[in-house]
Amino acid sequence: MFTTPFWPAADSYHIHMMDIPLPDSLSPAALDLIHQATRLAEAASHIHPVSTRTGSTLLQSVEEKLSIICFKLAQEFDDPDTCKALQLRAEILSDASTAKELLPQIAGLDEQELVQGIGYMSTWVGKSRTQHYSAWFGLPDRGLQEVSDVVDELFPDNLSWLQNHIDQRLVALPGCRYKIVDLFAIAGEANSYPKHFAYFFPEDEGVKYAPQKRTIVFANTYLNLFERFAQSQASLLGWRHEAIPDSALCARHLIAWFRGHDLGHSVVLEKMMFGKLSKQDRWGSMVVQEALADVFGLLMCLTEPSRQALQLNETLQLKIFLLEMLRYLRRGPCDYPDAGAAYIQLKWLTEHQCLNWSGTHYVVELSAVKPALTALATAMTRSVLQGDTEAALAFLQCYSPHHQREEADLLLNRLGKTVDMIEYDQKIKGFTL
Ligand SMILES: [Zn+2]
Repeated sequence: MFTTPFWPAADSYHIHMMDIPLPDSLSPAALDLIHQATRLAEAASHIHPVSTRTGSTLLQSVEEKLSIICFKLAQEFDDPDTCKALQLRAEILSDASTAKELLPQIAGLDEQELVQGIGYMSTWVGKSRTQHYSAWFGLPDRGLQEVSDVVDELFPDNLSWLQNHIDQRLVALPGCRYKIVDLFAIAGEANSYPKHFAYFFPEDEGVKYAPQKRTIVFANTYLNLFERFAQSQASLLGWRHEAIPDSALCARHLIAWFRGHDLGHSVVLEKMMFGKLSKQDRWGSMVVQEALADVFGLLMCLTEPSRQALQLNETLQLKIFLLEMLRYLRRGPCDYPDAGAAYIQLKWLTEHQCLNWSGTHYVVELSAVKPALTALATAMTRSVLQGDTEAALAFLQCYSPHHQREEADLLLNRLGKTVDMIEYDQKIKGFTL
């Protein structure tokens, strides 16, 4: 258990402020209720931070108040799914035994005015396996939702590209829906450090194998992380800062890839289960699943139909990918599965002469990146996805940072570990009716 709101442990942290303005689409009454809800959720996270089977009566009375707030808040909206989600949330807060049945129903909705989550939820694998009390509120981001929806429409075509270039036997398991929001209020553990910008519901709320699932993405947080921490690493790749265009253009590329990554998780060889590999190397299994999703996701963004329909620029997409790989890796390759995945990909790209260290920065051979990643996807498909546990373990032995502590430390020393984090300046905290 950690004793500070920061994770993972470090000697110091650099905090960067991110403004979260008050949304102008909500009524003053709605803003007031949301303000109260975040304060109560903050209190709940102090009363009983971690989910256990036995709650406390004090927590129960806080949740009853939260439940009443959700009922009142529902009356402030016209959109049926926004109201329904709030009513369901109110029911769950007043009777926790309904959660298993009602949480998947919330995940099946498509709110147009307000998206929210209140209760116990889990964050980073690696930080903790338990769930902590949090609340968050976001507005649907229509522009970026459209980008994500187009990626979904193109998925069958892109899957055939993967079949033709990697393995004909690749199939897609039923995927997870995607909801993109801009966060404007957050409290409890979800407001600790580092900021988490994607939740899987209702799995992160403790309901596994739900009939309906969706990923919630805080787009404004994600874009801020890119702008502040990824873009500023351009010099590590030998690029000038101006080589990366403005954020609105980058946002389309980032969301297209991130949705591609999510869909990439569902691309497997028939009957493949990660259970066998997971039993022998749980961390390695998670790391390699993230690497597969990253590479499948990126390759799907680089196909002709994706580039046309989404107006994506191949060079920019590759640059964004490399900057993000560095950002992930520099957070600590053994602390997060997605940072471990970045290590796999960067190591592969270095071995394939796409990245050559000059002593001060990488010299990037951009035109070699796509073929090298296609080869990486093929190598992971033939070992990990094939269900060949021995070959998968051999791959992990060569490429996963937890089997290569010394090499991973050297690389991290060269690139510099980042302790940069953002803190939200939430204007809702100062809102009074
Ligand atoms: Zn993932």
